[in-house]
Amino acid sequence: MRRVYMDHNATTPVHPEVLEAMMPFFRDQFGNASSIHWAGREVKKYLDEAREKVAALLHASPEEIIFTGCGTESDNMAIKGVAFALKEKGRHIITTQVEHHAVLHTCQFLENMGYEVTYLPVDGEGLIDLEELRRSIKAETILITIMFANNETGTIFPVQEIGEVAREKGVIFHTDAVQAVGKLPIDLQQLPVDILSLSGHKLYSPKGIGAQYIRQGTKLTSLIHGGAQERSRRAGTENIPYIIGLGKASEIALRDFQKRQIHLNASRDRLNQEIIKRVPHVKRNGHPTQRLPNTLNMSFLFIEGESLLLNLDLEGIAVSSGSACTSGSLEPSHVLLAMGIPHEIAQSAIRFSLGWNNTEEDIDYVVEALPRIVKRLRDMSPLYHKMITTGKT
Ligand SMILES: *Cc1c(COP(=O)(O)O)cnc(C)c1O
Repeated sequence: MRRVYMDHNATTPVHPEVLEAMMPFFRDQFGNASSIHWAGREVKKYLDEAREKVAALLHASPEEIIFTGCGTESDNMAIKGVAFALKEKGRHIITTQVEHHAVLHTCQFLENMGYEVTYLPVDGEGLIDLEELRRSIKAETILITIMFANNETGTIFPVQEIGEVAREKGVIFHTDAVQAVGKLPIDLQQLPVDILSLSGHKLYSPKGIGAQYIRQGTKLTSLIHGGAQERSRRAGTENIPYIIGLGKASEIALRDFQKRQIHLNASRDRLNQEIIKRVPHVKRNGHPTQRLPNTLNMSFLFIEGESLLLNLDLEGIAVSSGSACTSGSLEPSHVLLAMGIPHEIAQSAIRFSLGWNNTEEDIDYVVEALPRIVKRLRDMSPLYHKMITTGKT
């Protein structure tokens, strides 16, 4: 059976060139980058190079890049780090209702510690109201944390405008850019962003490596104490092989940027068009234009996204549904619900997220299987029968 992977927003395969670049650091180049002897010095040189490559992808300077354990850790470091550093100034944080749990649950943790958090609502396309953001800022506001692009819908936030509001009000702005890095041009010389989080495994490097951009002069309390690694912002002996991997992945992302953009946009659009052509009663979720090139979130009315996912899996196709299985019941995605999408439509959603290695044949295979599976599931759906007999949804 053919295997098609269309869940790149969940994780990506390690790029062959990335794996190759990492291998020597599991073998001969085993030194501790803090050691003064030859074994340490050599490794330190490659560590510096990797930092330069991540910085280059973001148009930042290498001193502003810290390596972390993952995207979740970067988000925690940013939000708690600012919250702890500025607790005398104020204890109010602004975020949105559609963030990743790495941000939402960190904010909830801080609420339990006595901080106040504003969760901005979004409109039907997943965007916040900039005026509402402005109105939410008060004297006690110390941090705005808003994602660059949403992992479920692909909706891109107006990071430039959000940053301008933050600057004007003197508030630190952190953005979870895990889904944006490598998929969108990011120029931190231009963008008014103070802290940015990214993750290796969404960028074709391994799981368990992340990075953080911290603009010079930004106040952050460290969460991990120990040695002086990463400018004392994140203690612990550096994970050299993985850092080298993230550096290589960043270099490739920059090198292949145009090629990937063209490929992803064209593939996503063809997948979208073929689905609309072949499957009736579908609805696309997210913003029509302000969206990631690789992400397509669609509701297949009258069936459950989860059933569709399982049936696609039986045919070798890996996609995602935003549902979370909480205490045995399927809760639709918090992102789609926040967009005001009715419960049943949110529950019928599937996310296709493409990668550079998806082929034309992958799309052919999916759009052949999908109409068959959807028809079979709808034939079993009481909701669908009610709709065709009464003509009402
Ligand atoms: C995947 C993801 C994260 C978490 O990154 P990990 O490296 O898996 O911890 C955070 N935010 C967003 C938007 C993500 O998609």
